Amino acid sequence: EPETAIPSESLRDEYEALADEVRRHRTLYYNQDAPEISDAEYDVLFRQLEEFEALHPEMIANDSPTQEVGGEATAAFAPVEHLARMYSLEDVFSVSELEAWIRRAEANVAALGLVPAKWLTELKIDGLAVNLLYRNGELVRAATRGDGRTGEDVTHNVLTIKDVPQRLSGEGHPEEVEIRGEVYIPTKAFIEYNEALIERGKAPLANPRNAAAGSLRQKDPGETAKRPLKMFVHGIGAREGLTATSQAETYDLLKAWGLPTSPYYEVLETYEEVLAFIERYGQKRHSLIHEIDGIVVKADDFATQRALGHTSRVPRWAVAFKYPPEEVHTKLLDILVNV
Ligand code: NAD
Repeated sequence: EPETAIPSESLRDEYEALADEVRRHRTLYYNQDAPEISDAEYDVLFRQLEEFEALHPEMIANDSPTQEVGGEATAAFAPVEHLARMYSLEDVFSVSELEAWIRRAEANVAALGLVPAKWLTELKIDGLAVNLLYRNGELVRAATRGDGRTGEDVTHNVLTIKDVPQRLSGEGHPEEVEIRGEVYIPTKAFIEYNEALIERGKAPLANPRNAAAGSLRQKDPGETAKRPLKMFVHGIGAREGLTATSQAETYDLLKAWGLPTSPYYEVLETYEEVLAFIERYGQKRHSLIHEIDGIVVKADDFATQRALGHTSRVPRWAVAFKYPPEEVHTKLLDILVNV
């Protein structure tokens, strides 16, 4: 009937406009390392799209930003197919949302007859996701996340990062193992780097995340080598032959192999303990060695991770808690202005 046809068409227009706006900001952020809006503003926009889709599930498009990992492999680098897919993370923006998420996951774990989940809780490093492929202990490739299936080959650039071993130490390396982590610029190094830029009459970089992404995605590895990049590893992709059965055991192995694991993680048993971790790091979030944009909570046990599985965009066994937005970057720039 015409009465319903008209509003549904305008509803569709509204939906497409919202999805296009999210896509436009994703392109600016991932492909150009030049966002126009803050992450908090982007998160609100993304949430609006999710809420719209929850009200109108029949309209959800397969290529909606909610159904895909953001980002793509640009033509500036050779494309690399990840052996195992890389995912994004589901966000929660308040402790009540986090509690609901954990209680729901615990109920799912119980319904599947698994042992109660332990929650490996760690910092959400504000950097750029990179996938390292080691073959028989030798780094053969490093790639950005891209759309989660195909990333960009940044091997030569990653090899300039001192934290990343070209050859793994220790023993028990699988024939092929993908190790995922975050390339970042430490806060202090970021401030110093910007001071040096200002001294040379150049524009300072906006924030450590975009600086890290821009630094890693240089055409000339010699330029990347000049940037104060560091890496922490926090995940694993293709892993056949890996002996570890949990995230925490994996971190022990990766550390023994000479990979840079973060000292800031804990394996916790209850929501209350996770909450205490979040409150503790909320207070010291600006005195850490790197910027964080939240806390990541992961089911520790691999059997639980496998049983909970993934959506097309995110694992169902992990969640990112985002701290309420603050003018962090402005604060950093204030420090610069006042030096
Ligand atoms: P995400 O950054 O929220 O979460 C997924 C990523 O977190 C992973 O790929 C991984 O690289 C990273 N991560 C950091 N520490 C981790 C840890 N300890 N364990 C596991 N993963 C860890 O998701 P996303 O899809 O990469 O992007 C969304 C983010 O990008 C949001 O913060 C959003 O605000 C921002 N963004 C901003 C704009 C903008 O215009 N300002 C546009 C797009 C995206």
